[in-house]
Amino acid sequence: MSIDITQVQAFHGHMCPGLAIGIRVAEQALLEMGERPGDEEVVAVVETDNCAVDAIQFITGCTFGKGNLIHLDYGKSAFRFIRRRDGKAIRIRVRADAWKPLRPDEEQIAARGRATDAGEVEKQEADHLRRQRIEMILNAPLSDLVEVQIIDPVIPPRARIFNSVACDLCGEKTMEIRLRRLDGKLYCAECFEQVLKG
Ligand SMILES: [Zn+2]
Ligand SMILES: [Zn+2]
Repeated sequence: MSIDITQVQAFHGHMCPGLAIGIRVAEQALLEMGERPGDEEVVAVVETDNCAVDAIQFITGCTFGKGNLIHLDYGKSAFRFIRRRDGKAIRIRVRADAWKPLRPDEEQIAARGRATDAGEVEKQEADHLRRQRIEMILNAPLSDLVEVQIIDPVIPPRARIFNSVACDLCGEKTMEIRLRRLDGKLYCAECFEQVLKG
């Protein structure tokens, strides 16, 4: 499995424990679904919208813009992958014990680093601890971090293309279903709020 972590980090903007988890989830997804299948062949349905999702988009090629990344606002660290070709469908759940709790002395280091009056030494110590946790996530056996469940292959519809219609106030083309109607005029979401305020 060749995942270029530096590239994932560049895409996301920084390295963090959430991104590290996403890298491992994506790794598991590639093992199950095959490496980078064709466009929209695999649909990812993510149950959260945190840092991990950026790694999943970058590594699996399931992206928001292509419409084969769907967000369910459940706030859970779980990620479903559905392969259209044969209906293989899995849910990768991050184990509750994937984040080893900090020891009391580590808690103290983290707290000192977060403090508003933290000095350079305290910040460096906290940063070191953070890096250690990221390394742990990146190097742990996958089975320590995630569980794979087989699920029903409920494939959400492909990204639909809607007509664009000009907003009656700003004139900008707006996806038809996003326009609001008021007194016989059509407004984009932004203008609609403006009109309501008067
Ligand atoms: Zn992040
Ligand atoms: Zn408008």
